[in-house]
Amino acid sequence: MTAPNEILPVATGAQVRAHVWQVLGTRWRELAAVVALYASATIAGLVPPSLLGGIVTDVQQGTTAGRIDLLAAGIAAALVVQAVLIRFGALAGAKLGEALLATFREDFIGGVLALPLSVVERAGSGDLLTRSSRDVSTLSVTARRGVPAMLTALLAVSLTLGAIALDSPLLVLPCLVVVPPVWGAARWYLRRATAGYLRENASWGVLTDSLAETVDGARTVEALRLGPARRDRTDADIAACWAAERYTLRLRTFFLPAAEASYILPLAGVLAFGGFAYLRGWCTLGQVTAGALYARALVAPMDELIMWLDYLQIGAASLARLLGLAQVPPDRQAGSARPADDRLRVTDVSHSYIPGHDVLRRISLAAEPGERIAIVGPSGAGKSTLGRLLAGITGPDRGEVAVGGVPLIELPLGDLRSQIALVTQEHHIFAGTLRDNLTLGMPDASDQAVLAALAAVDALGWAEELGLSSQVGSGGAALSAPQAQQVALARLILADPHTLVLDEATSLLDPRSARRLEQSLSAVLEGRTVLAIAHRLHTAHDADRVIVMEDGQISESGPHRELIAADGPYAALWRSWHGEARSGRPRQAGQPGEAVHDAVDKASSSAGSGG
Ligand code: ATP
Repeated sequence: MTAPNEILPVATGAQVRAHVWQVLGTRWRELAAVVALYASATIAGLVPPSLLGGIVTDVQQGTTAGRIDLLAAGIAAALVVQAVLIRFGALAGAKLGEALLATFREDFIGGVLALPLSVVERAGSGDLLTRSSRDVSTLSVTARRGVPAMLTALLAVSLTLGAIALDSPLLVLPCLVVVPPVWGAARWYLRRATAGYLRENASWGVLTDSLAETVDGARTVEALRLGPARRDRTDADIAACWAAERYTLRLRTFFLPAAEASYILPLAGVLAFGGFAYLRGWCTLGQVTAGALYARALVAPMDELIMWLDYLQIGAASLARLLGLAQVPPDRQAGSARPADDRLRVTDVSHSYIPGHDVLRRISLAAEPGERIAIVGPSGAGKSTLGRLLAGITGPDRGEVAVGGVPLIELPLGDLRSQIALVTQEHHIFAGTLRDNLTLGMPDASDQAVLAALAAVDALGWAEELGLSSQVGSGGAALSAPQAQQVALARLILADPHTLVLDEATSLLDPRSARRLEQSLSAVLEGRTVLAIAHRLHTAHDADRVIVMEDGQISESGPHRELIAADGPYAALWRSWHGEARSGRPRQAGQPGEAVHDAVDKASSSAGSGG
């Protein structure tokens, strides 16, 4: 049985065990209290069978009613003490379980937040969502109830066996007949269960992924009539989940009845062997009675043990997936070197998503502090990929992207983000106040600074009308896409990095608003280095330098005027963008700049004549 291909790692059984021991080690006081309370409760529970055995022996040998009453009162008192101890044991156990769960959850959240962005993007949301929902809730049952219940059951079984040994060492022998069948069934089950549960959880991750993808792309699904194909995909994913669930169910169907059938063996053994031993005079009738009662008392904890052993497998599989996140290697090796200045330099960079297929090829580029560079080119030329490298989201396969002489992947993430920021087309508005959303990267910003940032991105009007304290995001006021984009840009102004990488940052605004926003931004961005990946060429017109990318390489670079005068690919792009291309010269196949002409078509159809 192999689990579906997982990008996020899963911890091994040994790592899970080591982690559990380590966490239990930090809570040994609580653990000791639970063990002490349950051990006392179990010992109190062992008193009645022993007293009952005493009554049988006394009756057999002749006794007084007063003595019988005394023994009966002892039984009642032992039961009351046991009930009280179990109550406090359960409370302490529940607290320990909650504390363990909190630790596991905190470790998990720490692992999720430390995941490199590139890994999150590659892994997709399904696996992470399943780990943070299904796996956490499975683990919560195991940690809250399973760990205390297992402890109690283990204590009860060992102390009861101890009591049988004290009562009559001979009667321990028939109790041990249960060991081989339970051992064999448990070995068979444990060998298969962990892989089965891992596969089950992974298949749920795939299903979640595919459902989330369908819901996210509902409009595309409808427009392209992809409904039947998506349904088939979901059916296939559900079939994989069903097969995985069926496998673990089959394991339980064999294991649980086999184990449960064994419970009766100690009782039957004690009665049969005890009777034989009594007839031979090896033990008294009282000892056999007490032994049989103890053997009967083994059934409940053994049942608990077997049941929680199953849950423990499910919980261990979930914990392995949660701990696995911590094994994702970091994608940056933060060093102690600090940038000597604010110069961003790309040196001979090549990069690929699929080994052997470079989407960037030997790119070199230097941005002077305060320079505004526009990166233009056709779709698929590699502009966004270069943007991600410029912002230090991933490191290049070959070559170097450095600021002030320090490679971006060697800067601690906090330092990097205070220097260089990437603004993409995705703008998330978090549930909270508008103010909270604006000051994410700068929590201490004054209202004055917040309002100035909003004014800079031309958002003061609607923001003041709405109010900085208004709730936005999920459950609050819905912001339009352009408003969300303005919030993201205002956030950046407050965070104050010296270099900004704008990837289609103004693409969601209509051309007139985009131009207004870019104009107000240009005043605010004075003194900062700006690398803007642009489809609207007025961004390029206003820039100090334009870089034209084609097929993963820089095909032209220079100020707008020079490139127009050079009459190369950029000039063609510019003319086309102004609607001249369609009436201009025919394009020849294979001609340099052909790809740019393709982009022109795209740019002119998406931007219209605006700008
Ligand atoms: P656009 O203007 O359409 O956004 P672009 O110039 O920004 O395009 P990139 O998005 O950088 O180009 O893509 C460059 C190449 O890399 C394309 O061929 C694209 O299909 C490929 N690519 C981009 N992202 C990935 C990815 N995550 N995995 C595999 N290939 C990718």
